[in-house]
Amino acid sequence: MINRRDFLGGTVAALAVAGSRHPVWALARTTAPNDASMIPLLLGVDYYPDQTPESLWEEDARMMADFGITNVRIAEFAWALMEPSEGKFDFAWLKRSVDILNKHNIAIILGTPSASPPPWLTVTYPEVVEVDAQGLPLHPGGRRFTCPTNKTYRRLSLAVASQMARTFAETPGVVGWQIDNELTLSGSPRCYCNFCRAGFQDWLRAKYGKLDTLNQAWGTVFWSQTYTDFAQIPLPLSSGGDPNPGLALDYDRYQSYANVSFLEEQLTMLRKVCPRHFVTTNNVGLVDYINQRDLYAKLDFVAFDNYPGFFKMHLHQQAKSENVTWDPVLTSTAMSHDIGRSLQGRPFVIMEEQSGKAGQRMFSPQPEKGQLRLWTYQAVAHGAMGVNYFRWDTATFGAEEYWHGILNHDRSPSPGFDEIKQTIKELKALGREVLESQYVADAAVIFDYDSDWAVQIQPQHYQLTYMSQVTAWYGAISPSHTGIDVIVPGAELAPYKIVVAPLPYVLSEAQAQKIREFVRAGGTFVAGFRLGAKNEFSQIVRTPLPGPVRDIMGVTVEDYVPLYWEKPGVKFSGALAGPDGQCGIWADVLKPETAEVLATYSSSEHSGKAAITRNSFGKGKAIYVGADLDPASLSRVLQTLAASAGVQSMMELPRGIEMTVRQGGGKRWIFLMNQKPEPQAVKLAKPGTDLLTGQARSGEIELSAYGVQVLRLS
Ligand SMILES: [Zn+2]
Repeated sequence: MINRRDFLGGTVAALAVAGSRHPVWALARTTAPNDASMIPLLLGVDYYPDQTPESLWEEDARMMADFGITNVRIAEFAWALMEPSEGKFDFAWLKRSVDILNKHNIAIILGTPSASPPPWLTVTYPEVVEVDAQGLPLHPGGRRFTCPTNKTYRRLSLAVASQMARTFAETPGVVGWQIDNELTLSGSPRCYCNFCRAGFQDWLRAKYGKLDTLNQAWGTVFWSQTYTDFAQIPLPLSSGGDPNPGLALDYDRYQSYANVSFLEEQLTMLRKVCPRHFVTTNNVGLVDYINQRDLYAKLDFVAFDNYPGFFKMHLHQQAKSENVTWDPVLTSTAMSHDIGRSLQGRPFVIMEEQSGKAGQRMFSPQPEKGQLRLWTYQAVAHGAMGVNYFRWDTATFGAEEYWHGILNHDRSPSPGFDEIKQTIKELKALGREVLESQYVADAAVIFDYDSDWAVQIQPQHYQLTYMSQVTAWYGAISPSHTGIDVIVPGAELAPYKIVVAPLPYVLSEAQAQKIREFVRAGGTFVAGFRLGAKNEFSQIVRTPLPGPVRDIMGVTVEDYVPLYWEKPGVKFSGALAGPDGQCGIWADVLKPETAEVLATYSSSEHSGKAAITRNSFGKGKAIYVGADLDPASLSRVLQTLAASAGVQSMMELPRGIEMTVRQGGGKRWIFLMNQKPEPQAVKLAKPGTDLLTGQARSGEIELSAYGVQVLRLS
């Protein structure tokens, strides 16, 4: 049984590291007394008693305990069973399930059910449905079809969550909450209904105060859009011409805010009713419709869902993307872990981890032997304090009946069953020191939601997306193996030796000042094309580009050029001397003022003009990468610049081997992960001890296909 004393007793260190309201890591200690007394890690499954005959609940709990898990997450889609008709609640079934799980020392994370409203709700209140970007209402029958602003939907979501919270506040075994499920992850991630329009107008009134200020900020004199009443302001829907860019960007911000404030209604209630429980929500790492910094700001820790197989499936659909120098599946997964850790600068939890073929109408490939283990280690290597496998058993009905779990449809062990069981056993044996050690990052990649959304509103080139640029830059710098945080523009830059900002399209004066202070104090700042083209109101700056950071960069942008058939060459020189490269879909043509030229365009009408420059500013360096470089050149350029900034891997590793470093208490550990389906040799630069076998390792070691080594360095 878990009680308050178990939670708080003897876990001061874990609390300090996790920084959570209640130390999640303490759960493992309290829930599996036999062999988990020393592990600061949640190892659980997502479980659906609502979809499983009650006659199997006891067997499930017994099998889970035998499997070695510490916790489950349950109930996040069970609204119809909890509230069969409005105001009539039934939690007896859920209580019976919780009691059985608790009897087997399995802790319970409860999900509030607002992502899937029951049919009675949408029949009684049809106005709660979301309206899509074409102005058409969504229909009930799936999930996540509701408007985050709608007051009726909010009232009913809060009512069922409150009743649930009051019922389970003191129930033994319940340790925390997941609010809702994957906010905005639907076919239509933005709502355009009349409630949202009114909410948007209120939000604008609060943001701008006066209409004059708003009219100026958006430049509404264009196309005769001057507003004389907030109630006149429209939604950015189809209108015979593109919407005002300032309005469209503010609408993205408003929709992000609407989802965050929807979540915070339930959070405020849970803090009051269940003060001993932790509270989080689960998003998907690279889903960018909500500003995740805002989403997780008041939650106890970041949790998100991780399905590497979807990246693989997606790449297969877009075969052209395979021609890159970095490993796209490794990169996308690693980057989403680094986003998850960086949002709060603390350990995170994978709320759903792929455990088999996954998907609805189509599914990703069956993970190959070793991949499930590898993905779990990868999460831990990047700072996870918990991994929940999705899901325990596989549903035999419903839209996700092919989303395969740890048990097959006939309840036989899935192809990944033994591997996951073995992985859980291994992780429990790794020891507290390594699991509580810190992931240290010398480099940071800036991820800016404003730039992302502004580029979605005006891509400027049909192939240009913010996410693809960020992923390419992250993939190019990640072979430095020295730790990368993925930060928002307002974050503190001082901890890093190098900060890179791909496609930094929207830049405020305040953000420019942060960059100025960072470089002046000795930091290295590397910016991609379209630097500082727009201010925070999505207006183009009236000064020569790169606008507010021209003094730092020491250049002026002579012209910015979308490229289609023409692919200019790029000739490197000086500190970047090396093989010629090629410019892809965009070229900022640079005119150095105080900066030195490190590369020029070598063909096209801009031949001989600067493509990359470096400026000394204060004690630091500011580099402008004006060309959309080919992947090989981008990797070489960013790694060369990182090395000059003192960011360099402690060992040479073949492509496809990922390494993370963790340190604490004067000790260092490395996680070496082979993301390739064949064995690879690694030459260790320093001797170490294999944490799993206790054997000394030095010189050349072999990592098996998808193999992992965790070494304590001597
Ligand atoms: Zn709406």
